[in-house]
Amino acid sequence: MRSNVTEYALVAPPTLPETLKLLASDSDLTPIAGGTELMVALSAGRLPQKHLVSINHLRELRFIDVHPETITLGSGTTFTDIRRHEAIAEDLPLLTQAAGWTGSIANQNRGTLGGNIVNASPAADTPPALLAYGATLTLISAAGMRSMPYGMFHLGYKQTALAPDELVYSVTVPRNWSAYRTYIRKVGTRNAQAISKVAIAGIARIENSTISDIRIGAASLRETPARCTATEQALANQPLTAAALPDLIAAARSALATEARPIDDIRSTAKYRAAVAANLVEEFLQQLSS
Ligand SMILES: Cc1cc2nc3c(=O)[nH]c(=O)nc-3n(C[C@H](O)[C@H](O)[C@H](O)COP(=O)(O)OP(=O)(O)OC[C@H]3O[C@@H](n4cnc5c(N)ncnc54)[C@H](O)[C@@H]3O)c2cc1C
Repeated sequence: MRSNVTEYALVAPPTLPETLKLLASDSDLTPIAGGTELMVALSAGRLPQKHLVSINHLRELRFIDVHPETITLGSGTTFTDIRRHEAIAEDLPLLTQAAGWTGSIANQNRGTLGGNIVNASPAADTPPALLAYGATLTLISAAGMRSMPYGMFHLGYKQTALAPDELVYSVTVPRNWSAYRTYIRKVGTRNAQAISKVAIAGIARIENSTISDIRIGAASLRETPARCTATEQALANQPLTAAALPDLIAAARSALATEARPIDDIRSTAKYRAAVAANLVEEFLQQLSS
């Protein structure tokens, strides 16, 4: 049943400091950015939060700053902003790809990076790339700012480290990956307009036919977006030659099996997700060896 919109209230303070002050004084307020998650819930009659504070218009949250070592994206950056940004395409291609396959063009025009992270779906598109690149979040409240590795943000299914009076302010991503090779693949029902059944984003550095560093982020492999650290450990410092490849793939598959704890839901089964994720990691290794 659709929601009765007269039961809802929306405020839109003109600046970030005023918004933070309001969030500090009213614990019932929920931020709304692009609204592409919250408005779906509202339409379906399942949005319990009745008091919303718009952050969609806040210019302070919509920016992309390119620094020598990092790129910092404001949480209000849309998928379209990301998809069109040249330095991101050049340095962080996994993020460009993830932004480009999120929903439709309309979603990409409204949906924000902050909303994708805070909504905390295990199937969301940008987290695997952010995990592989080792992104850092900056959170902001009226009391100030604090930073944390993005890998520490998700505490459980739809649970995050964000305090009720905090916003995600920005996401900072190291950008110097020119010595790394990249892999990203999303498996869904269709190529477009489909939430992933499972997705893998990986980067790896190969030196002297050896994997000197490898980082793998996954969607829908656990109840939160997660890094596949056991798989990374099984692969790091291993030779990557045609002769060694079968053993390497076998080691990756068994390590992944120890850390894959996917959920069963309407989009797929845990068994299918675990099997496909292992196939994707194998595909990543095969591409690295070619
Ligand atoms: C048709 C359709 C298709 C979609 N397809 C995909 C897809 O393929 N892949 C995918 O990953 N997602 C998909 N989505 C989901 C959605 O578009 C994304 O998750 C998007 O990033 C949400 O961003 P938003 O700004 O619209 O969030 P909102 O709906 O505004 O907010 C989502 C949550 O984040 C919180 N929030 C937002 N910004 C902040 C902030 N800065 N600080 C603190 N809290 C904040 C809100 O309080 C809310 O809890 C789809 C949605 C629709 C409707």
